[in-house]
Amino acid sequence: MEKLLLHICCGPCSAPIIPNLNTKFDVLGFYFNPNIYPETEFEQRLASAKKVVEFNGIGLIVPEQERDDFFEYIGDTKTKPDRCLLCYKQRLARTAEYASENGFSHFSTTLLISPFQYHDKLKEIGEEAGKEFGIKFYYQDFRPLYKESREISRGLELYLQKYCGCKFSRKRK
Ligand code: SF4
Repeated sequence: MEKLLLHICCGPCSAPIIPNLNTKFDVLGFYFNPNIYPETEFEQRLASAKKVVEFNGIGLIVPEQERDDFFEYIGDTKTKPDRCLLCYKQRLARTAEYASENGFSHFSTTLLISPFQYHDKLKEIGEEAGKEFGIKFYYQDFRPLYKESREISRGLELYLQKYCGCKFSRKRK
């Protein structure tokens, strides 16, 4: 089976995606989200991601990352949608880079489940990152699984976040 590195944004979003992808690929999770603010929120989302990967019997890589990496990456681009596009780019490029350096054939992201993200842009940015690092971006519209993700999360008693992730979104910006 081909190997896919899955960028995981949080436990709830990954909950129905991992079993779906597990039928097609040998999947490994990758938790790289320097955008998540503050640190306690980052840790809560990481804990729920760990719970889901363990439940599905796959591993999880947590590369080194600092909250400041995100602020440095976006620079003066502090408003939507441009801030979000940079946020996707930073996370997907790092995932593609790691996947390319570690023998994966594909990479993808759990962000593709969210009806609240700029879905078409995510696809475009994933494909660009794939070209840059010489690896295939696996695209699937996971949005029909969103409702199921909330149901599984309740069953597994996962932490359900109340905002997208960054400092700005915490203030509903
Ligand atoms: S609102 Fe969400 S996608 Fe946009 S920059 Fe913040 S964390 Fe990233």
